[in-house]
Amino acid sequence: MANEEKIITIDGPAGAGKSTMARGLANHLRWTYLDTGAMYRAVALAAEKAGKDVSDEPGLTEVLTELDLRVKPGLSTTRIFLGELEVTAEIREPRISGLASAVSAQAIVRRAMVDLQRKIGETGRVVAEGRDMGTVVFPGAGVKFFLEASPQERARRRYEELLGDGVKVSLEQVTNDMIARDQADSTRALSPLRPAEDAIIIDSTGLGVEEVKNRMVHLIHQKWETP
Ligand code: C5P
Repeated sequence: MANEEKIITIDGPAGAGKSTMARGLANHLRWTYLDTGAMYRAVALAAEKAGKDVSDEPGLTEVLTELDLRVKPGLSTTRIFLGELEVTAEIREPRISGLASAVSAQAIVRRAMVDLQRKIGETGRVVAEGRDMGTVVFPGAGVKFFLEASPQERARRRYEELLGDGVKVSLEQVTNDMIARDQADSTRALSPLRPAEDAIIIDSTGLGVEEVKNRMVHLIHQKWETP
């Protein structure tokens, strides 16, 4: 089996449960979990630190030239460093979500991130989550999932996750930000959020974590007797 075939992709909108499932599957298989959203978040944070506007292409080119992005994927976290500085927690702050969505629409940013993601995926045995994993980055992946859930449920999950992280936000704010971000991610010209033609679509509305994970594990085992 080619290495790219030994990749599982999980795409979908914000709050659909991609991270929980990608972590769960990576742990189950003892594979590497790659959170590609974290990479766009890191670029957004670097742009913010440099005082560059997220939609200013020449400014972002400078940011990318200076960027010392270190991605350390593991079994259940993808640790992110800008140079020596670990920013794994900082990039989860709500203000970075919108900025990440804006930088990710820029061709120059996508090109750099896709190259890095493919490099990380070269060895296979990776569970990669994002928006374009199955469509653009790893089109030859062995199993592709597209996770969905109702907007209300996705907003509630994201809200609870942020509360758990100690971030003070209102459900209304989370809902509005999420809808705006999904709209931007789905309608952008480059690598818009959509399921790959050969993706398995799972709607997790009303389903528990274990239920969704078991369903995914079952589908993976169906595809590969011994992954
Ligand atoms: O997954 P997460 O919410 O952390 O991603 C932050 C943003 O990064 C998304 O809203 C999306 O705009 C962008 N992204 C992307 N392609 C990916 C992963 C994330 O464009 N593969």
